[in-house]
Amino acid sequence: MQMTGQAQRVAVVTGGARGIGAAIARRLAADGLAVAVIDLKEDDCAGTVGAITSAGGRALAAAADVSDAAQVAAAVEAIAGRLGPPAVLVNNAGVIRDNLLFKMTDSDWDTVMGVHLRGAFLMSRACQKYMVDAKWGRIISLSSSSALGNRGQANYSAAKAGLQGFTKTLAIELGPFGITANAIAPGFIATDMTAATAARVGMEFEAFQQAAASRIPVRRVGQPEDVAHVASFLASEGAGFVSGQVIYVAGGPLC
Ligand code: NAP
Repeated sequence: MQMTGQAQRVAVVTGGARGIGAAIARRLAADGLAVAVIDLKEDDCAGTVGAITSAGGRALAAAADVSDAAQVAAAVEAIAGRLGPPAVLVNNAGVIRDNLLFKMTDSDWDTVMGVHLRGAFLMSRACQKYMVDAKWGRIISLSSSSALGNRGQANYSAAKAGLQGFTKTLAIELGPFGITANAIAPGFIATDMTAATAARVGMEFEAFQQAAASRIPVRRVGQPEDVAHVASFLASEGAGFVSGQVIYVAGGPLC
């Protein structure tokens, strides 16, 4: 929990309606932050916001497509006005448009780049000014083990590798203002995203998870809470000397 007597910090979590983003939003709220949950549709955020407020926390929902500059600017300004200046940003919103290169469309490429890379850029640019003013901030972006290369994911791998370079550059530029930037690179996490991948390859999700677990050293797939735990650490006061890092959360070593 945050120390009493200091203003409650505000976290912004994109793609927080479900999956990893929802778990991070709930965890940061449990850590004592007020949380703005951004997703494409405000109504979809009700579950996450309700879980936080019913546990005694402060949260609000905001609709924005993170790849749209005007929507991002409006959402961040509204959050700053209604909840307070963003101090923690979690760039989590994501989509997949998997296909082998020869079948990948321009739209598959542009959509994935738009949400992951342009989205993280727009959100970080909009939030950093509040963090610079406060001389304190945390920017956490969701990369992926796919950044190391993954068949059928030329678009997603490129975007997730790009986020690692983006993160390291933010760490260099924003460090003098008390702002850290780090990336979390999950391996297999059980969410709707991996369920969709199972469906695409024609497997039951349970069997797909078991097959994945057999290849993971700790012999289980990850849960959204595994990622939220690392986000909680990176957002914490004590993590102020950790910046520009990529932390793999994959049940085994990746590099
Ligand atoms: P998920 O269950 O599919 O949730 C993604 C969320 O992002 C959804 O609520 C989605 O909204 C939202 N979103 C999509 N496009 C958006 C946009 N343009 N603007 C705002 N919100 C948008 O995915 P997840 O598995 O929790 O993944 C979360 C993050 O972790 C992603 O960046 C993903 O690439 C990364 N990751 C996941 C895994 C894994 O194994 N699951 C592994 C490595 C990295 P809608 O519901 O309306 O589409």
